[in-house]
Amino acid sequence: MDGPLTAAILIVSTTAAEDPSTDASASVLRDVFAQEGGDRWKIWGDNIVSDDVLAIQRQLMHWADSLDAPNLIITTGGTGFAVADHTPEAVSSLFHKQAPGLVHAMLSTSLAVTPFAMMSRPVAGVRNKSVIVTLPGSPKGARENLQAIIKTLPHACLQASGANSRSLHAGGIKKLESEAGISDSKPQPQPQPQSPQSHSHSHNHHHHHHDHGQAHSHSHGKLVRHTKPNPDIKALSNDPTLGATRRHRESPYPMLSVEDALYLISEHTPSPDIFTCLVNDQIINSVLAEDVAAQESVPAFRASIVDGYAVVVPKNGNMKGVFPMTAVSHATPGEIRSLKEGEIARITTGAPLPPGATSVIMVEDTVLKTMTEDGREEKEVEIQVEGVNEGENIREIGSDVTKGTVILKKGEQISGVGGEIGLLAAVGVSEVKVYRRPVIGVLSTGDEIIEYNRPGPMRLGEVRDTNRITLISAAREWGFEVVDLGIAKDKSGSLEETLRNGLRQADVLITTGGVSMGELDLLKPTIERSLGGTIHFGRVAMKPGKPTTFATVPVKENDGRRVSKVIFSLPGNPASALVTFHLFVLPSLHKQSGVSPVGLPKMPVALGHEFPMDPRPEYHRAVVTVGKDGVLTANSTGGQRSSKVGSLRSANALVCMPAGKGKLDKGSMVDALLMSAVRGF
Ligand code: AMP
Ligand code: MG
Repeated sequence: MDGPLTAAILIVSTTAAEDPSTDASASVLRDVFAQEGGDRWKIWGDNIVSDDVLAIQRQLMHWADSLDAPNLIITTGGTGFAVADHTPEAVSSLFHKQAPGLVHAMLSTSLAVTPFAMMSRPVAGVRNKSVIVTLPGSPKGARENLQAIIKTLPHACLQASGANSRSLHAGGIKKLESEAGISDSKPQPQPQPQSPQSHSHSHNHHHHHHDHGQAHSHSHGKLVRHTKPNPDIKALSNDPTLGATRRHRESPYPMLSVEDALYLISEHTPSPDIFTCLVNDQIINSVLAEDVAAQESVPAFRASIVDGYAVVVPKNGNMKGVFPMTAVSHATPGEIRSLKEGEIARITTGAPLPPGATSVIMVEDTVLKTMTEDGREEKEVEIQVEGVNEGENIREIGSDVTKGTVILKKGEQISGVGGEIGLLAAVGVSEVKVYRRPVIGVLSTGDEIIEYNRPGPMRLGEVRDTNRITLISAAREWGFEVVDLGIAKDKSGSLEETLRNGLRQADVLITTGGVSMGELDLLKPTIERSLGGTIHFGRVAMKPGKPTTFATVPVKENDGRRVSKVIFSLPGNPASALVTFHLFVLPSLHKQSGVSPVGLPKMPVALGHEFPMDPRPEYHRAVVTVGKDGVLTANSTGGQRSSKVGSLRSANALVCMPAGKGKLDKGSMVDALLMSAVRGF
């Protein structure tokens, strides 16, 4: 076998989470891997969580859903009958495949030791490429259970990791057993240290059902990390070629909390690219990827801040007297004569001081004494002030911004109204490094969907495409460039082609429709089976938006780079699509463009009337207004059925209603996510 297999250990124990020194199992398990694992295992990491379902699931997903997921994840603890024992429940809902054989092996081994093994409730299965097994919390029990399965785990892990199953099996069961050190036949290609009683080897292929004609049968088990799994191995979606009778009647995708869904989105959304952008209106909404320093000082010259007369102040500061006017400085660039004591120069606001001038006297402090013969120009001016200081009424070079100082920081967003672009312009910065904003492709799916503006009467069943134009405008409103990908038919070919076309033009795809449970709901199967993508979640406990689906697909860009692009497949109902866009897509778009914090701003609001509660957390479309007293009040936009287009009208917020029964009273404080500006009074 090439390369070690990786194992992660998760200690599930509220006590150990508080005081890690109380944990005894981790070291026991490490010993078993080291001594009985036949040099096959490398401990990839470990962690401790309390007996908390979400904490357990979050950690397991974090490991098993990462690109370099460990081959094996062992949990220890929380498998008994005590009230606090939740591990099997937390873990089993994450499985893409069950592995009851491993459970059987563990139980039968323990039962041979003590009938109390009946009190252990282990589960085992596969998530993505990781085999996950729950062991009991007692060091002795954990050790016995791991010993019971450790010889077969490498094979299970290699298959789960996507190794070629044919070549893995070429050679037959006996060969597998001998390699695993659990048979008495002599190990052939690589002797395993822990098979001391090996006898002579006899090739024994006869009851093996795979043929073994593969040329590379000896490379079996080569772990190719960072590649996408063979979609046949892990696809949870329906196989569309099998027809309606064979579709799932219950979604195989685990139901995630909104919080966990957001966590997975942030985990799997690629980090932003950086590029150099000219300072022009293209830059609006971009986030700076570097600190920006002023290239020049502002002002770049000594400038007057009043209309008046530039003077050279004598030592005593007394400027009383009549002075000849020798020059004029308007705000026009060019050479200016220098000024000597006893001369004055007329100067306008913002104009550069003549060389030698040390102060400016306001025109209000002067009287015109004599004029030129044509009466058009001042000749002599009387100044009536004393106690004048040098530097009066002058803006010194760099007094606003000094060349070289940092004017904008990495992470700041260039707004259209905040003056950041003006600041860049003022200090002579012509290009900056910014995070590239992703280009978003939007498509609708469904045989019944027609262009929203198609003239003429509608045939029975036709539905005007509401979602595409809504999402395109929402994405543009948030400052993103959008590619319109049209409407895909509910045919695998049409959908795959539209998605592939979209992936060539856009960084992020947003689809709507086709994620329910119907046999024509092709998004998940197409992403998994045709595009080789990974579905990170396919169901979320929320209303509206339950079937919201988030996936990444590997894509080779034109320049040869291999990248991962995200696809959001939103529900078809218009209200669901818009809510889930704001809740799930926007945070991903923000992360990809370097905006932080991501997503809609959240703030507490008072309910303007009674709001009904739902068993699922609900995102209720509402209008939030601010009263004269400064209190923000939310009023429902009306019926919240997810197909209700009318409920979108004038909504500027999503009220986050907690799950529950009954109603929340008028005046209750709840969080609201703000989609656009609060209405004033
Ligand atoms: P689906 O998930 O494809 O079954 O869609 C759920 C519901 O949303 C169906 O009633 C569809 O007709 C409707 N729907 C899907 N896409 C759109 C769209 N782009 N505009 C308006 N309604 C849609
Ligand atoms: Mg549909």
